[in-house]
Amino acid sequence: MTLTLGIDLGGTDCKYGVVDDSGKLVRTAKHPTESHLGFEGVIDRIALHARDLVGSDRVDRVGMGVPGPMSSRSGVVFESPNLPGWVNVPVRRALENRLGIPVALHNDANAAAFGEFWAGAGQGCRNMVQFTLGTGIGGGIIVNGELYVGADDTAGELGHMIIDFNGPPCNCGSHGCVEAYASATAIRRIVREALAGGTRTAIRIPDDAEEAFGAKIVHDAALAGDEFAISVLRRVGEALGIAAANVINVLNPERIVYSGAMIGAGEFIFAPLRETACARAFRLPAERAEICIAKLGRNAGIIGAAGLALKTGAA
Ligand SMILES: [Zn+2]
Repeated sequence: MTLTLGIDLGGTDCKYGVVDDSGKLVRTAKHPTESHLGFEGVIDRIALHARDLVGSDRVDRVGMGVPGPMSSRSGVVFESPNLPGWVNVPVRRALENRLGIPVALHNDANAAAFGEFWAGAGQGCRNMVQFTLGTGIGGGIIVNGELYVGADDTAGELGHMIIDFNGPPCNCGSHGCVEAYASATAIRRIVREALAGGTRTAIRIPDDAEEAFGAKIVHDAALAGDEFAISVLRRVGEALGIAAANVINVLNPERIVYSGAMIGAGEFIFAPLRETACARAFRLPAERAEICIAKLGRNAGIIGAAGLALKTGAA
């Protein structure tokens, strides 16, 4: 059996997993990234923790998902907002030098989508699109069983699909992106604006969570019958449904998979999502596309990074 090490590098934590050739996790670890150590220091720590986790097992390859724009071909990360000093850094070469085995490097959102495709909600299909619903909206695209990264590794920015000519501003500098309607950040903005405008709702933003309150607060209010909360989640579902209709018309996927904290809102989001997608997309591909929930949770990134490394090795 071939074992592969998957690494999911984040600004705060770095996750590690030894993964078998069917995509099952053999064991995992999580350590702080210690981004203050700078590029070489962080890579030193990663190599140390990777060796610790692998122990006496034989691991042939390493796959790592990294945040921020990068090139999977050259293994260079161009910049990473949460990793100070990471500007045009040769991550793949640095890690290969320390570990002595081949490393495959990918964008973290793409790696997570590939993980779901390989060993989670995408199993058994060939064409899949994943939306990751969090602070922002990320994702990944699988076409004919392969991760689609485009000419410059920038494909899969599903959150920046523009769904309105004159919509609200988005973090990316554009406006009307689906992220500006359906991310946790967008929900916070909508709730704040409504509270400031005197909308009748039971939603109260907790004092200690001014920045961090999430979809759960709105979901809890919706469960208690709060009309405003239900309408907020319906609007989120409709925005995601428009995005899904675009994906359905353009790519004809077998499955569209949703991951991230927001999926906890369940049918408050998914009922309007399915309804809107069906109403707005061509009938045949809309009937074909299954709307699914991700299965691997926070492990999708390490499993997908390992899967992509395994695929590189087999090619
Ligand atoms: Zn945008």
